[in-house]
Amino acid sequence: MNNEKIVKVREKTNKRNVITNDNGNLPLLADIVSYPKIELQDYEMSTETVLEIYLGGYATIKNKKIIAEEIMAKEPLLLVSLLNLYESLPEDIFINSYIKYLHSPLDEDCIEKIIAWCEKFGYPYEIDTSKEYKQYISPLFGTMSSDAFFWFPVAKFLVDLRDVYKMYSLYDSFKDIDEETDTDKKAIKIKKKDEFIKFISTITFTEKIEIGDSVKLNRKISSLFDVAKYQIVLLYVSGSNDVRQCRNIGCNTYFIPKPRNVRYCSNPKCYKQARLRKETYSHKKTKTVD
Ligand SMILES: [Zn+2]
Repeated sequence: MNNEKIVKVREKTNKRNVITNDNGNLPLLADIVSYPKIELQDYEMSTETVLEIYLGGYATIKNKKIIAEEIMAKEPLLLVSLLNLYESLPEDIFINSYIKYLHSPLDEDCIEKIIAWCEKFGYPYEIDTSKEYKQYISPLFGTMSSDAFFWFPVAKFLVDLRDVYKMYSLYDSFKDIDEETDTDKKAIKIKKKDEFIKFISTITFTEKIEIGDSVKLNRKISSLFDVAKYQIVLLYVSGSNDVRQCRNIGCNTYFIPKPRNVRYCSNPKCYKQARLRKETYSHKKTKTVD
């Protein structure tokens, strides 16, 4: 699948949320994106004797197949969750040298946050769900076990998480620059957009055309990081502000604003502040009217 081609076509025809073929017609819905959510049981960290830290767990098997829930990724929930996870981790763990030589010192709190995220959103990488897996009684523990044990290096997770954050930050930095009026910022926008588009080409997915009442294009993405990146692409294509960072200083939580003009997250503390500001504002307004 050639992602760059899609971007070019979109740029040229300026179509929103629509993918066209090379002739510029046959509109297919591009925002039907799904991903398999695979919940692993009892995540555990690899022992400290190895150089790299791994996190892994068992998938649940039913009739020899791994249970995976198909999730539609239209709302950028996954993206928001990853941005918030990034914000919640100390900045220095994302420094290259640290990630490269990462062994045991990654503090327990970070590991717990990563595990909590995986438990909520699923195993982050591709798993072959078409394969048959075995289930057996573990000779050592006498409990049910299976060969469907999956793991990933924490260092890889951190690099992928950092990429999602970087890609979103790029989009966020140029999305409000109007090339027509902000001519002095035009060069910056072009440079940032170029960097941004490089990230798009890293997204991999499979496509299926579904023919029912209409022709639909269904995309399946296996890496949850790629799902988040795809959600950024959807924001980019529609030019939307569907992801916001809470205005409350010290909160900075990312959220999906509903209604769209909401500027504070749903945390009661921030919500209160928003109301207070509104009251002060309307109070001031009545005063000037007097
Ligand atoms: Zn907030």
